[in-house]
Formats: sequence, C-alpha cells, structure tokens
Amino acid sequence: MNLKKIFTISITVIIFLIIAVVTFLLQPSGHVQDFQKWIYQPDHKQQNLENQKVLPNQLTVRFFGVSTLLFDDGKTQILIDGFFTRPSLSQILFKPVHSDPKLIAQIIQDYDLKRLNAVFTSHSHYDHALDIAELGIQQPVKIIGSESSLNIARGGKVAEAQLQLIQPMQSMQFGEFKVTSIPSQHTPPTAVNNDLGEIITHPLQQPARFSEFKEGHSFDYLIEHAKQKILVKASTGIVPNQLKGIKVDTLFLGIAQLSRQSPEYQQQYLEQTIATVKPKVVIPIHWDNFWEPLPLNQPLDFLPYVADNTSKSMQNLIDYAEKHHAQVQLLTQPVAYPIQ
Ligand SMILES: [Zn+2]
Repeated sequence: MNLKKIFTISITVIIFLIIAVVTFLLQPSGHVQDFQKWIYQPDHKQQNLENQKVLPNQLTVRFFGVSTLLFDDGKTQILIDGFFTRPSLSQILFKPVHSDPKLIAQIIQDYDLKRLNAVFTSHSHYDHALDIAELGIQQPVKIIGSESSLNIARGGKVAEAQLQLIQPMQSMQFGEFKVTSIPSQHTPPTAVNNDLGEIITHPLQQPARFSEFKEGHSFDYLIEHAKQKILVKASTGIVPNQLKGIKVDTLFLGIAQLSRQSPEYQQQYLEQTIATVKPKVVIPIHWDNFWEPLPLNQPLDFLPYVADNTSKSMQNLIDYAEKHHAQVQLLTQPVAYPIQ
C-alpha cells in the first residue's frame, strides 16, 4: 500500500469516527417513558379543570421545561424564570438569539397570563431569562432578579417601574404568594458557561449571542402560599448550609449535569437539598432538551449525552428521594399540577 492510500484511508476512518461520536453525543440520554412510574398523570377531575384554564381555590403549577414554572391560585400567577422560545442548538452555535414575540403572545393567551403579577429569575443565562423582556413588554408584570436579569429586561425597553432588583433573603408579596429569594450557587461551570459570577453590565438588546447572557449570580426561591411551602432550586449547586432550618412541602430540584459530578458532590447536593428541607414531594427540573421547541401534546425529551446523562441524574435523584421518604413526581408537559 502506498503512502497516499494509507493517508486517504486514515482520513476516512477519522471522519467516520467524528461523525459517529457527534451522532452519539446528540442522542437523547435516555427516554422519559423509562420513568413512567413517576410521571404525573392528570386525573379526570384535573382534565376538566384543564379545560377551564382557571382553577379556583387550587394552587397549581405548570412546568414549561428547564426551570420555567407558572404558579397559579386562580387569582394570581407568578412565574419562576422565563424561557419559552427554546432556540435550536444550531441557532445557539451559529446565530445570535432572540425571543419570539408571537410565541410569547400565544403563551399569554393560552395560559391566561393576564393574571401574571411577577417573573422571578433564578439567574441570567439565556435558558432561564431569554423571554423576560418580551413578557415585560407584552404584559405589565414586575420583573425581579439580579442586575444582570434587569439588564436583559432593559435591553427590551421594559419600563423601569416594572423592574425590581432582588434583595437576598427578603420576602415579596403578590396576592397570596409570599416569595423569598435565597442566594444560591450555579451548577459547576463547563467550557460553554464558564461565566459564573460575571454580570451583564449594560442593557442587553436582542438578538444577542447566548454567551452574552452572563450568569449574574444565582438564586433559589422559597414560595409560601396558604399552608404550602415550596422551594425552587433551578441549578445543581449549593451554598453550604444555606437551606438549614427551612422545611418545605414541595421541592423543585434542578438536576442538570448531576450525573457529571463526583459521587461526593452528588451526595452533598442531595443531602443539602432533599435531606435538609425534607419535602413530601420532589419534582425534578432542568432535565429536558431545551434545544427543542416546547412540544404541545407530547412529553419533553431528555437532554442529549453532550449535555448530561439524564437517565443517570434522574435515577440518582429518585433513589435518594425515595430513601428519604419523599415522593417523586415527574412533570413532562405544561399541564396544571395541583400542589397539596
Ligand atoms: Zn445557567
């Protein structure tokens, strides 16, 4: 075999291997159906309520993927994070991103967001805050977050009177909802989000590169409503002992990249969350493939292998939660889940 032939074969093999690896990395890391036992199925009564859209005297939550959660008591709504547009991976890699105003208008109509009082951001990465400016333009809602999150809203020309800088450990009241922000920690950085603690210092106009959505510090939210206590923790990171003394009924727990962390890290994360706040119900969040649009009538997909091994992260969470006598409920679509 001459040298030229060896070279050609080697290049072909390398290209083939690269294609095989990329194809594998973009595969979903498991299937939500494998966790059927834990998937919340709305019963007949709830399905009726589903048609009414408004659920009188019943506190519900709808999960829109990542950590976008709409809490609704029939009178008042609050939203944790604002991410509906979900640009594709190729858009993220090769183009600046922007909110889809038509989609936001549709969401406002479909979920009756005229009753939405406030949007709280967990941090300012695009998969948490891309749509807060568009929401603030289309609805007169308060936007509460770090300076970075407020600068995302300012970039969309949201009125200054709608913006409220987060005050750590201070509570805010909206209708029956009392919301307290708790300083938190982001998931350990990766090559693409190595910007923890960095701040968006100027109004961020869209379209903007995803990397311009700097983290700008992370927060958890304690939500109190009548007798219910709920904690939303979007990122897989903790400030040691920060949640000591807090007990909740329902915990929304971010598990993105949990499986990628060391066993010690995973143990500490679950100990400082589930074992500390002792929830009756744990609802995993930040496990879906947010490079796909929000599916209308089918479940969200798991993250691809390039981002996490979601089956593993999910199983680790379930094993730990069940050992601690907490029930796991998996929300896979934006159906109204009754909190009780
Ligand atoms: Zn983030």
